[in-house]
Amino acid sequence: MTSSSRLECVQGDIVQQDDMDAVVNAANAELRPGGGVAGALHRAAGPELDRACRPLAPIAPGQAVVTDAFDLPNQYVIHCLGPVYGVDSPADELLAACYYNALRLGEWEKVDSIAFPSISTGAFRYPVTEAARIALSTVTQHLPDFPRIKRVRFVLFDAATTELYQRTLASFNEA
Ligand code: ADP
Repeated sequence: MTSSSRLECVQGDIVQQDDMDAVVNAANAELRPGGGVAGALHRAAGPELDRACRPLAPIAPGQAVVTDAFDLPNQYVIHCLGPVYGVDSPADELLAACYYNALRLGEWEKVDSIAFPSISTGAFRYPVTEAARIALSTVTQHLPDFPRIKRVRFVLFDAATTELYQRTLASFNEA
């Protein structure tokens, strides 16, 4: 099975990925609810997620930790702290580390499917064209190392970001 046959980019909401074992949180260092993806996941998971996160915080940029998913329709939440663009450096390596460490944790927990949001491209202001290239190249490059993970889905919130991710993935497949 090639990396590209295990990878898709769709428009949607990260809290509604009923058919995926794990969802990834674009977390903050304290692993608190906050806004964006983290706020949506904590609201949908319920207060037990916040309680489960507290002993694991703080985390550093590029790091990932895993918790149960509580009231979400998934088994696990993998919390990643992306780099704040212009603050945490090297931003490209830290963003790539998020995706790699999330896959590694997923493999360790024996999940067969993981859904990612576009880490760092909201409140953390990472330029989305560059973030998409790093996200997709990191996953494409490392999926062969993680054979238990059969499906990876990027869940993008708006149509423009979805098209960008889909075009970027297609350009890798043509190369
Ligand atoms: P970060 O702090 O890492 O930048 P954000 O949560 O602010 O994370 O945003 C990351 C990306 O996720 C942005 O592109 C944002 O539009 C998108 N996003 C926000 N809410 C959701 C959601 N419920 N599902 C999927 N993507 C979302």
